[in-house]
Parts: sequence; C-alpha cells; structure tokens
Amino acid sequence: MRTPSLPNKIDPWRLATESGRLTGSLALAVLPRLVAALHRADAVANVALTAGVDRWGVHYIKGVVRTTEVELVCQRCLGVLRLPLEATVSLGLARDEAEADRLPEDYEPLLVADGVIGVADLVEDELLLALPQVPRHDNRRDCEANGYRMPGGMEHAPPLATLASLLRDS
Ligand SMILES: [Zn+2]
Repeated sequence: MRTPSLPNKIDPWRLATESGRLTGSLALAVLPRLVAALHRADAVANVALTAGVDRWGVHYIKGVVRTTEVELVCQRCLGVLRLPLEATVSLGLARDEAEADRLPEDYEPLLVADGVIGVADLVEDELLLALPQVPRHDNRRDCEANGYRMPGGMEHAPPLATLASLLRDS
C-alpha cells in the first residue's frame, strides 16, 4: 500500500489561494514534543487537510489528522492505554494578532506572516491539542485488570467532609 508523502514545508497563504490539499502520512517519531507526551509513539499520523478561501475572504486550512493507536499511561491504574488521536483542524490564517482577533469564531488562528511553515510542526501542534488532559481507560474494568482497586471508603467520605470532621475534633 502506498501512502503519499507530505511536503516538509508549505506556504500556507499560497496553498489557500490555490485551494490546495495536504494529504499523506507522517511517523509520530519525528514529532519530539508529542513523543515526550506519549508512552510509546510508533504510530503514524494520517493527514487529510484542504486549504482555501471562504466567502468572507478568510484563508483557511481544514480537515482531520488521525493517528493509528498510540500508547498513553492511564492516570487511574498507571497501566498502558491504547487509543488513536484525532484532531479536527480548522485554522484561519492571520498575519498578526489584530488579524487573528478578527477571525470568525469557528477558526483557530494560525499566525503566519509571509513565508513557509513546517508541516510537521503544524501536525504536531494539532495532535498535542487532541491529547486527553487526563488519559484514563473508558472502562474501569480495564483498570481493575491492571490491579487497580478503588480506595476503601473514599466514595462515602469526600475530602471536604473529612477535613470538617478533623477541624471539629481538634
Ligand atoms: Zn486504567
């Protein structure tokens, strides 16, 4: 199976003006900031983005970046959690902060003056935003399979109640 390779750099303004596409795949191993956030990163990001100019004249890059399964550490059981990352991309190009402020709300600003930007950086920024803030197995049974046990009694004694009773006793 052949996957098209992505260019290393793009001129986003030109890509939008020409209604270009950015499709292909990229090994996550070349994204150091993302690798640092993952337990294991031998996955691939599949990029399917299109660029254009909308009816308000906003130059945009839109689409989806989806990875094959990456490994994170579950924050409940500290076991390995496998899941694909998916970033929905909706970037509006802006040359400066003032222009970024004027973008319609459904765009995230991509600040770029004239020139080229690295495609890997763009993909990495989007995937970092797609990382779960607190990775956890959806199903608690998966955590229990890793030896996780609910701490005894905690469900019935919220920390604030415990604190209040401590204060009363002192
Ligand atoms: Zn877990």
